[in-house]
Amino acid sequence: MSDLASVLSRAKAEHWCCRWGCTTCGSGQFREAVLRAVDAVDLERDSALRLGRALRDISPEAHPDASEFLLRWLGRELNEAEIQEILGETSHGSLYRRMLAARDQANARRAEYERLNLPEYVAAQRAKKAAARAEKHKQRLAEKAKRDAKLRAEGKI
Ligand SMILES: [Zn+2]
Repeated sequence: MSDLASVLSRAKAEHWCCRWGCTTCGSGQFREAVLRAVDAVDLERDSALRLGRALRDISPEAHPDASEFLLRWLGRELNEAEIQEILGETSHGSLYRRMLAARDQANARRAEYERLNLPEYVAAQRAKKAAARAEKHKQRLAEKAKRDAKLRAEGKI
């Protein structure tokens, strides 16, 4: 078992915090063990590359939360294309692609929500509805005028 694989299984067995962005402990225990496993004091470019390569031989199924944490951590030091290239078609590679897709979807939803709530958009929608109402009203008046003209012609009014 690689050093990193044993860190992941310890993290799982001992319930280490692997929550990305944990404000209570910063997942310190997990981070430190991972850094030791890739022979680093800090995650910088070189150690991130080592960590990425170590992930190629590990399945995220062992500890999905920890895997997600590590991929986010890699994203601090490496760009998306580099990470994709390192992980390739491994199971961590597909987890990474799923994470990117989920992020893109969330961004798209947020952008759509913002678009629908822009004051200009809301005002334009209101104006459209008001115009449609006015048009309907005009049609009703025209129909009434036609009916009245017919009744008049028949001498009923
Ligand atoms: Zn924590």
